[in-house]
Amino acid sequence: MDFDILSVTKFEQNCSVLRCPVTGAAAVIDPGGDVPLILDLLEWQEGRIETILVTHGHFDHCGGAAELAAATGARIEGPHEGDAPVVAGLAEHAAARGVRARSYVPSRWLAHGDVVSFGEQRLEVLHCPGHTRGHVAYFHRESGWAFVGDILFRGAIGAWEHPNGNLPDLVGSIRNRLFPLGDDVRFVPGHGETSTFGRERVHNPFVGEEAMARWRSRGKAPTAPADAALDG
Ligand SMILES: [Zn+2]
Ligand SMILES: [Zn+2]
Repeated sequence: MDFDILSVTKFEQNCSVLRCPVTGAAAVIDPGGDVPLILDLLEWQEGRIETILVTHGHFDHCGGAAELAAATGARIEGPHEGDAPVVAGLAEHAAARGVRARSYVPSRWLAHGDVVSFGEQRLEVLHCPGHTRGHVAYFHRESGWAFVGDILFRGAIGAWEHPNGNLPDLVGSIRNRLFPLGDDVRFVPGHGETSTFGRERVHNPFVGEEAMARWRSRGKAPTAPADAALDG
């Protein structure tokens, strides 16, 4: 599996364009906007887009999904149903920030453990609430790449100080769902540079080992919920 990252919208969101080297099929993760740019890349690569995958309902990630689907006939999958209210309010939220976006109804809402595919490639779906209720990450096990949206960044974590955010869930999602995939796993965050789970597990100032130890010693570590508590 090969992929390219396009920076889209004024929020410089990382839109990933994935390609199956066997069949030439393509998938686009988080087309937040700048759809003509995405279409140009697909045409240049002669990629036949099959599916549009959404990590969460924020408009910088999925504001262009409806337009891209209409232009290409691709299906839209995700995120988890917990984000349905955010997706329904897409146009309104975007307009408040001076951006145009269209709402959509996905072909399916995704659940933890689902598998999405395009060409001969498969990506595992991990439900990772905390930044939003319905946030999901996509993991391509064969190449060791994960696409995590606004859950985790190089040296930072997603924002939780808003009505749909929750810090304990966010820390639990990162430490109990993402990090167990392995230190060698590389990831594309929703914004900024790529990194590895190993680097963040050790050095991330919010969820790294040193940070967790420091928080524990002060008696105010965020209580990461058990894996089972994250579903629903
Ligand atoms: Zn977001
Ligand atoms: Zn974002």
